[in-house]
Amino acid sequence: MSTLFVSDIHLSPTRPERVAAFLALLKYTSEHAQSLYILGDLFDQWLGDDDDSSPHPEVIIALARLTGSGVPIQILHGNHDFLLGQDFNAQSGCQWLPDPSVIELYGQSVLISHGDLYCTDDHDYQALRTLTRQPTFQQQFLSLPLSERGQQAAALRLRSREAMADKSDAIMDVNQATVEQALRDSHTQILIHGHTHRPADHEHLIDGVPARRFVLGDWYQGESILRCTLAGDFQRLSLQALMAS
Ligand code: MN
Repeated sequence: MSTLFVSDIHLSPTRPERVAAFLALLKYTSEHAQSLYILGDLFDQWLGDDDDSSPHPEVIIALARLTGSGVPIQILHGNHDFLLGQDFNAQSGCQWLPDPSVIELYGQSVLISHGDLYCTDDHDYQALRTLTRQPTFQQQFLSLPLSERGQQAAALRLRSREAMADKSDAIMDVNQATVEQALRDSHTQILIHGHTHRPADHEHLIDGVPARRFVLGDWYQGESILRCTLAGDFQRLSLQALMAS
């Protein structure tokens, strides 16, 4: 038995083969894993729970099939799908967790997050994040017609892409001191997150105590899956490797 972690799948109608890979992961999970954690940006765009554009309906059906079979799926919001709401949770059976959260994983406490919270060097991004997470902002946005929400999201994405071109890689990565403080505050020695699309296993020494940070990669080209075994070991696998193991 094992628990699986993924992030930044960015499901989109422009990448049907990635949708197929995610559906294959759900099928694998139903047969071989105990639970699945999705650490944000499952969808490349989510304009609200009434956004039933492709591939949303088929993904919700597959998620519901897995949760209905008794395998829990815990989901965090990413910066692309932070509008996933109660209707999505009800239809998919996914359980939403606040970001960050501490989970108990085979005897270890583990801090999980989408990861954007820790990119504190990027002040513009954090300001935008704070604004877009406010309930009043979200209520106002969700009251707009779907087509207008789509137009606003497209304009925002364009602006963000332009801003990113001017920012250094270091600014858009997590801030080391912020990460260390998050581990201290949560009394954990393991952090799992995504968002930066820079898959790596980092070792930190925090107040003399070793800590590990697993960064999940995106699913643009392949799949980035982290498996934690019953023995508490972490393994990084592609979908093919997972299925062959
Ligand atoms: Mn993200």
